[in-house]
Amino acid sequence: MSDKSTSSKAPAAAITETPLVSSPPRKIYPIVKYGDPVLEKAGAPVKDFDAELEELAEDMFASMYAAQGVGLAAPQIGKSMRFAVVDVTGGKNPEAKIVLANPEVTHAEGEVREEEGCLSIPGFRGYVVRPQFVTVKAQSVKGEPFEIRGENLLARAFCHEIDHLNGILFLQHLGMLKRDMIKRKIKKLRKQGEW
Ligand SMILES: [Zn+2]
Repeated sequence: MSDKSTSSKAPAAAITETPLVSSPPRKIYPIVKYGDPVLEKAGAPVKDFDAELEELAEDMFASMYAAQGVGLAAPQIGKSMRFAVVDVTGGKNPEAKIVLANPEVTHAEGEVREEEGCLSIPGFRGYVVRPQFVTVKAQSVKGEPFEIRGENLLARAFCHEIDHLNGILFLQHLGMLKRDMIKRKIKKLRKQGEW
């Protein structure tokens, strides 16, 4: 999920000789755009909870922050698997990093209509009704089962990313007119080689 509210960026800090953190460099994945069939098929369940999955999770967080998103699902980097990362603080709070393997919404409550975007559909937004509260059952990057409750933006991010794992894009939640208009504009952009 994209978040345009992070557009006011602080100026880049000056390069210091001693880095503050010694984390390994991360792979920044290019984000797959609408039109790629991987975005419209359901992902396979995650079965191997190994070091490779942990690497993938960290690379997905890095890719998501680089794209200024608040959620990223594996199909959006071309991997058809039920795996996603969410951080509605955009990297400001390390404790807000959430890894979801094989997530499912087990409870939903209330309704909120809010504008939504998607890193795979850059430049387009639309109003989508989502639950105000959701409970999600998932597994951690190590395979441990857990439950997490989300409210408002977090609930929206969970629903948006879980939709991705089922091959569903936010366009499908829009009214037909709005959806067709966006699809037409994307078609035009593609013809012009800009998509
Ligand atoms: Zn998305």
